[in-house]
Amino acid sequence: MLTLPELPRTKNYKAIAVLTSGGDAPGMNAAIRAVVRYALANGVEVHGVTKGYSGLIEGDMQPMTASSVANIIQRGGTILKTDRCAAFFKKSVRQEAANLLRRKGIDALVVIGGDGSFRGAHLLEKENDFPTIGIPGTIDNDIAGTEDTIGFDTAVNTAIESIDKIRDTASSHDRIFIVEVMGRSSGFIASQVGLGGGAETILVPEKKVSVPEVARTIERGMKRGKSSSIIVMAEGEKPGLSYRVAEALEKRGYSAKVCILGHTQRGGVPTAHDRLIASAMGASAVAYLLAGKSDGMVAIQSNELKLVPFKIMADGKKKLPLDILKLAQILAT
Ligand code: ADP
Repeated sequence: MLTLPELPRTKNYKAIAVLTSGGDAPGMNAAIRAVVRYALANGVEVHGVTKGYSGLIEGDMQPMTASSVANIIQRGGTILKTDRCAAFFKKSVRQEAANLLRRKGIDALVVIGGDGSFRGAHLLEKENDFPTIGIPGTIDNDIAGTEDTIGFDTAVNTAIESIDKIRDTASSHDRIFIVEVMGRSSGFIASQVGLGGGAETILVPEKKVSVPEVARTIERGMKRGKSSSIIVMAEGEKPGLSYRVAEALEKRGYSAKVCILGHTQRGGVPTAHDRLIASAMGASAVAYLLAGKSDGMVAIQSNELKLVPFKIMADGKKKLPLDILKLAQILAT
């Protein structure tokens, strides 16, 4: 169980703002609820910004109360809505945003999002001396410096549920299925879904596997009497790559069906795990701010909550443990 860091209060902030930015993730609402209720419990007002940085630069924000976050812990998506905002890449726009926050009497900003959102938050703080803190919310779990992100566990569970269903058809029809999961250019979702879903082969951007190798794994399975096979594949830069693999397998005499899980993985009821980490991270973000700490994201390392500077997060690339791919193959063939 995660415990909150013990931090002495050094800042007498009167109000903070909170926003969600980039791709939505299940559990973001639990994080918003924790930020609002923990801040209110410490006598700090909270303003909820609508639609990420787009709403921030428009000044679209409302004071939040304990009841404005009632009954949301179990809901996917984000009640604050989210967006991608091209204008926030401009220094002058970020400066205007900081001025606007100050004019509204807001002392600090909590950003719930992915690494892109944190790059924006880091610049907002560095250029304008305006305290910001991040809470990692992305299904991809691809943020360097934290072992876990809000939404990842739910997305993995959603994809595994789908694989269980696909497996019924795969075995009834003696078919090979390629199941394409989300994760952009990282294979965290694919590797966990592959291992947990009992896939024979996992294809991730971090490790090149040739089509003949995939075919050999299918062949090995067939030799020991397997008539169906599940291949889990990360989407990569653009969804649809799995069709190319299916075509290449077809040329080698293997007929494979493709199933792209797509946005089903982004929505839905957050798992208990995601609600728990979101609650702990949301409260910790406020605790760090009140202790005078900012310009970083709340992270989980070895089951402990930490504050990782945005700079370290931005400079690092999270490494996928590749053993999981080998293990999946050993266990499935
Ligand atoms: P995520 O936060 O999920 O990684 P994005 O990468 O799309 O999502 O980033 C979300 C938003 O964060 C962008 O639309 C933009 O407004 C802001 N942002 C991202 N990168 C930067 C950057 N380098 N400088 C300023 N703002 C950025």
